[in-house]
Amino acid sequence: MYPISAAPVRLYGRALSRLFFPEICPLCGICLRTWEYQVCGSCEALLSELREPLCLSCADELPAFSGLSLCGHCSRSRHDIDRVWSLFTYNDAFKKIIHRVKFCGKPALLRVFESRLDDFLRGTDWPSFDAIVPVPMDRLKLWTRGFNQSYLLSLMAGKTLQLTVNRDLLKKKFTDAPQSALAKDKRLSNVAGTFKVTDPEWAQNRDILLVDDIYTTGATVNECAKVLKQAGAASVCAFALARVGRNNS
Ligand SMILES: [Zn+2]
Ligand SMILES: [Zn+2]
Repeated sequence: MYPISAAPVRLYGRALSRLFFPEICPLCGICLRTWEYQVCGSCEALLSELREPLCLSCADELPAFSGLSLCGHCSRSRHDIDRVWSLFTYNDAFKKIIHRVKFCGKPALLRVFESRLDDFLRGTDWPSFDAIVPVPMDRLKLWTRGFNQSYLLSLMAGKTLQLTVNRDLLKKKFTDAPQSALAKDKRLSNVAGTFKVTDPEWAQNRDILLVDDIYTTGATVNECAKVLKQAGAASVCAFALARVGRNNS
């Protein structure tokens, strides 16, 4: 992403290529400089990370100096998911990038997040996990989109954390309405019963890290955790690349 970390040969190649085929930042439309990749530095700087203190259960931002370790929601209710980690706030810059990834067929844009994701994963004190499991998409959506961004993120996380990615442990049945199109109170019922553990024997006593792109209400990862625990998993945590604040969900 920056000159100091990029391989010189790759930079020269990119400089030469951009002389003939200039690339523009898809978010603001300016020409990318040689050391910029996929989006310009100004747009990348608009990606904002969650600010501590965070809820130790769901990673929602807590008021500064409150002394709280759990948000009001988590202190009132129990979840099937044991703990959630997240990196970015779901702001306009993140939304624009992830929308282009998912709805404009640009999976390579996920690399915009790569170096900060890598830093975050290396700097986090993780419990021990047996495997990463991406939150699955139903077959129709996967066929339409051509890739599951949660699986691609799982591969990036698996490489950094040196964990295997069990892509097929969870399957999702077709649902009429995507979660993103539903109001908060409808999301829970929309995902109920939609996930299935394909290999319950493997899931026995496993510690699993689910990976998803966005955490909104937690309905999806909680439903995944529920079926994995019913199948015998010992613990199920989740990492979401970005988190929607509970006040905004
Ligand atoms: Zn830009
Ligand atoms: Zn919470």
